[in-house]
Amino acid sequence: MILPIRAFGDPVLKKVAKDIEPGHPGLKQLIADMFETMYAASGVGLAAPQVGQSIRLFIVDASPFAEDEDGEPTEDAHLKDFKRVFINPYIVEEEGAEWAFEEGCLSIPNIREDVTRPPRIVLQYQDEKFKEHEEEFDGFAARVIQHEHDHLDGILFTDHLTPFATHSAEGKTARHQHGQDRGEVQDALPQMTQPTMMKQFVATIALAALVACGGTAKEDAPKKDDGVMPAAEMVGRIRAMEDTLFADSLFNRRGAQTLLDVYKAFAKAHPMDTMAPEYLFRAAGMAKGLGQPQESIQYYDRIIKDYSRWRRLADTYYLRAFTIDSDLGEKGRAKTAYEEVIAKFPDHRFAKDARAMIDNLQYTDEELIEKFKKMNAEAEAKK
Ligand code: ZN
Repeated sequence: MILPIRAFGDPVLKKVAKDIEPGHPGLKQLIADMFETMYAASGVGLAAPQVGQSIRLFIVDASPFAEDEDGEPTEDAHLKDFKRVFINPYIVEEEGAEWAFEEGCLSIPNIREDVTRPPRIVLQYQDEKFKEHEEEFDGFAARVIQHEHDHLDGILFTDHLTPFATHSAEGKTARHQHGQDRGEVQDALPQMTQPTMMKQFVATIALAALVACGGTAKEDAPKKDDGVMPAAEMVGRIRAMEDTLFADSLFNRRGAQTLLDVYKAFAKAHPMDTMAPEYLFRAAGMAKGLGQPQESIQYYDRIIKDYSRWRRLADTYYLRAFTIDSDLGEKGRAKTAYEEVIAKFPDHRFAKDARAMIDNLQYTDEELIEKFKKMNAEAEAKK
């Protein structure tokens, strides 16, 4: 039976999964269903939390990688039979220089990002007969296991994307150091990079995911020449476009672009409607997600100019500054933009974030990594 795959935002994906005992009820059927679900979704790995079960179980079938033209022949042969069930798995060692690879996730449809991970791991686990194993994995096999193992700890690959990663490739290596507990590093990270910003960054990705399946809606998009569709009807259609994401796991960048166009069309057709600034705001997030920061900033500018009393104006100012900072890398302009946040919303939580971001602007990427490492070491020493 194909099981529904839980999507980004579902709390089960953020939980740390529990060990299971031999004789766990329905385990055999669950494993069979998970394989069926994974194949139906063209995935190479699936963890139990992704089908709503917070237990330490994941399956992989990396044989599609065996057909990867870039793969080495020996690895190909190895991966061809790499179909496994892992129960109560724990990574006990990670080693080697981290390497980047574009990852996707069945729970975050349509989003693929480079994630860096160490190339070799040692995994302790039990097979479907609960026989104990300790085994070394490398290359793609290690990569898939690391991704699925993360799911059991409530970690999604988007959690690995820090603002560092947006600044420089070297920044990614600061994500976690050899032999260090990843959880500790992640705990320490927000102190410097600001949790709000992390949230906004992930929210942008989630937003892009949310709209990425509106591809068939092109015909539905309001046409200027046909007169103006009433606001309520348009809102309904936009909602339907947004909702279809979770029913469709195919990548559709054009769909995202289409929805962005529809948001814009709404703001143009119904500028006085309460949803107009909201949709402009979503359009800005989406443009950022689609790699169009200049356009994103234009939407923020427009909200600031035309909707100066909108309830989410502080968010607008902050995200505008953050986009200038992270996507355009224009430090001087970013500083001015952050200062505006502080001046206009001195008591808002974003003012605090903006101060920290201004503080970070004085460092080069390399210095930020050093600072981050030092903070990590200090946090470590305190324990
Ligand atoms: Zn995943």
